[in-house]
Amino acid sequence: MRIDLHTHSDRSDGTDSPAELVRHARDRRVDVLALTDHDTTEGWAEAADVAERVGVTLVRGIEVSARFGGKGVHLLAYLPDPDHPELVAELDRVLAGRNSRLPAILERLRGLGVDIEAADVRRVSGEAAALGRPHVADALVALGVVADRDEAFVRFLGPGGPAYVDRYATDLPTMIRTVADAGGVSVIAHPWASRHDYRALDEAGIAFLQEHGLSGLEIDHQDHSPDVREELRDIARNLGLVETGSSDYHGVGKTDHDLACNTTDPEQYARLMELADAAAARSGARTPEVVGRA
Ligand code: AMP
Ligand code: ZN
Ligand code: FE
Ligand code: FE
Repeated sequence: MRIDLHTHSDRSDGTDSPAELVRHARDRRVDVLALTDHDTTEGWAEAADVAERVGVTLVRGIEVSARFGGKGVHLLAYLPDPDHPELVAELDRVLAGRNSRLPAILERLRGLGVDIEAADVRRVSGEAAALGRPHVADALVALGVVADRDEAFVRFLGPGGPAYVDRYATDLPTMIRTVADAGGVSVIAHPWASRHDYRALDEAGIAFLQEHGLSGLEIDHQDHSPDVREELRDIARNLGLVETGSSDYHGVGKTDHDLACNTTDPEQYARLMELADAAAARSGARTPEVVGRA
């Protein structure tokens, strides 16, 4: 069983459409795929439709932009009711923050002598509901300013870069509770990824989040070294949290993140789905089914 619980489509900053992503997963012999676009459920319907037809098990999720201890943290929310009012309202706030940041980034780039307009970003962002720095990076590539997304982040867009602009992110403990109210389960994405400052997310911080309803930690991720994985696994085991692994696939938008380059152990996946069933039952929310659940 190959289980990949964190991937992106072009509804956020991946480059495959949801249909292409699911077909790609089938071709790569992925048995269970989670679609987790940043801050949007826009790709869910298309992915579910194709998953049903090609026989891939699909877990519908969202990677929510949150903040904890003043630092950005990404929260994987699996199987919440996509129409839950508080969840919708908060995702709308995050998406509004993404949109309002864009002019500020472009202003900075123009200040650096780069001739770039909103239309240049719109031309490359296609179907995206969640606009992000990767789309600005793609526009810079199209304009011939940089060679690839990576160079755009290093030279301009990364934290501390000359065109870096912060944006709104939701309060993490509150969002974990909202996801539970919406009948879903929460897993912290790449908690100690190198580009994040993880001091707030030590064992005590993670235990605090568990009290708010956190179910798991994403441990096997490309941005975690072997040492980091080992330390995080110890924490997950101490606290009884589910351990996941995934690719964080972005199509051609991110190198070294091929589908199923990391996977989730079937037993851990089964535990996560049990917790999701319990959350759905407790909440009474209209949660989505796992498509093609065995
Ligand atoms: P944003 O959503 O606008 O805050 O941008 C963050 C997104 O940019 C995340 O999905 C990251 O995976 C992606 N990202 C961060 N650094 C890089 C990089 N060096 N190359 C490509 N994508 C990146
Ligand atoms: Zn992304
Ligand atoms: Fe992330
Ligand atoms: Fe991601």
